[in-house]
Amino acid sequence: MTTVKEQKFEAMAVKRETYQLIINGVRQDSVNGETYKVYNPATGEEVATVAKASKEDAELAVQAARNAFDFGKWRHFPVNKRSRTLNKIASIMRSRFNELVELEILDTGKSLAAAQGQVMQAIEDFEFYAGAIVSHRGAVNSMPGAFQNITEKEPVGVCAQIIPWNYPMMMAAWKIAPAIAVGCSVVVKPASLTPLSAILLGEICIEAGVPEGVVNVIPGSGSVVGNYLVEHDKVDKVAFTGSTPIGKDIMARASQTLKRVTLELGGKSPSIVFEDADVDAAVAGSLFGIFYNTGQSCEARSRLYVHEDVYDEFMEKFVAKTKQLKLGNPFEKDTHVGAVISQDQMDVIDGYVKSAVADGAQVLTGGKAANLEGYENGYWYEPTIIADTDHSMKAVKEEIFGPVVVVMKFKDEKEAVKLANDSEYGLGSAIWTKDYGRATRVSKLIQAGIVMINCPFSAFPGTPFGGYKQSGFGRELSIETLDLYTETKSIVSYYGSRPLNPFNV
Ligand code: NAD
Ligand code: MN
Repeated sequence: MTTVKEQKFEAMAVKRETYQLIINGVRQDSVNGETYKVYNPATGEEVATVAKASKEDAELAVQAARNAFDFGKWRHFPVNKRSRTLNKIASIMRSRFNELVELEILDTGKSLAAAQGQVMQAIEDFEFYAGAIVSHRGAVNSMPGAFQNITEKEPVGVCAQIIPWNYPMMMAAWKIAPAIAVGCSVVVKPASLTPLSAILLGEICIEAGVPEGVVNVIPGSGSVVGNYLVEHDKVDKVAFTGSTPIGKDIMARASQTLKRVTLELGGKSPSIVFEDADVDAAVAGSLFGIFYNTGQSCEARSRLYVHEDVYDEFMEKFVAKTKQLKLGNPFEKDTHVGAVISQDQMDVIDGYVKSAVADGAQVLTGGKAANLEGYENGYWYEPTIIADTDHSMKAVKEEIFGPVVVVMKFKDEKEAVKLANDSEYGLGSAIWTKDYGRATRVSKLIQAGIVMINCPFSAFPGTPFGGYKQSGFGRELSIETLDLYTETKSIVSYYGSRPLNPFNV
């Protein structure tokens, strides 16, 4: 009954007209032959046609992953062989670096600098886990008497990995690399808007020698294919990155089969500029903190708190520099801010700006769609600063996920901490001060998974990434991520010379 068109696997051009599903080590059309088109958000131009997975395809992918996990070789490979394969994936990615960057730009409309950094990090993620897996180990625990306890780390099984559109290549790497490093099989569901890099990464894994069925990639609807995976009784774990409302829904559905769940969700990350900060550094870091990736970043520093003594100086410089940011051709090296992902997202962003204005806030710069010659059919929004805000406003409380920052004044350290923590979210945070004691003190008080001190960067292979509160749980990008893709098996053995007879009968 299936009309699956199978082909022998071989490398194809990175950029091409059609992309298929990857199931059981082969590219294939969806069972019902459905496809859809993806567009470049910067220009509105069509990029490619992509196979659209249905539930039937999700079922095939789960079966392939299950089969690979239960009966395949991958998890039983010596760890150095899995490590070598991860390095091979990285080296193939390096050899196609420019092509992968180009495709990521076409798929997302992001700037060249952003795409280059993200593809490079995806490569380094595989290299990081290639190293980390070799030293991932259990323990020997002491026990009373002639008993020995050792713990082993065993792969958790089949993992559904559902990822968002803002960092398509990087999110795919954050998910696939640690899972396959420990020996799991994965079914990756990329965001419908940006499926291309996950498909390519799946192809590269197979090319590098990852056996069939270990990495499957099935673009499709979140509510159809995503839910199917989340509810499937043959899926052992779901790793999700996306919005907090969908994360809650996934956690509830996954509870029916008691799946292991990790959730990397939304944020509304605060940045605190103290009166003793290096103001120029704080301005430069705050610009990058909110406008990098067009503000479509889970850890975007989208709430800015500035001490009243430096507020005027800071804001004058911050507004002036924001006006200097260059939008436009994403392929130009000096473009700072790329496109917004879609018209829907444009409407969401603009809705928040309008709500802030209606609530009495002031737009200091931006606040509307950007008109760029030659990019009239794309989605562009001006980098936007909103002042005179307070915590009763929707635009201050909720994640906007666009190039919009809300600014507030504070009087002292205590107030700054209180404002920073007054949020449902707890992903990133930033502190700008020259006082080491204050930086340390405040970093301990902030309820967030990540604190950046005098620094706008947070995510590097090896640095744990993840949230407190409703920003989710679990950590990615780090050694401890490997634990989240494994179960701990506790093995107790007796080494005494006299046989045990505890009932003494
Ligand atoms: P989203 O929640 O709308 O979608 C994320 C993924 O989930 C997509 O693949 C989507 O198709 C799928 N999905 C949607 N509905 C589903 C359902 N009912 N069941 C299963 N899967 C479903 O998020 P988005 O708009 O793609 O991405 C933006 C969000 O992601 C923001 O909230 C952002 O903060 C968050 N994010 C978080 C991190 C992090 O590490 N914490 C990183 C990047 C993005
Ligand atoms: Mn796209």
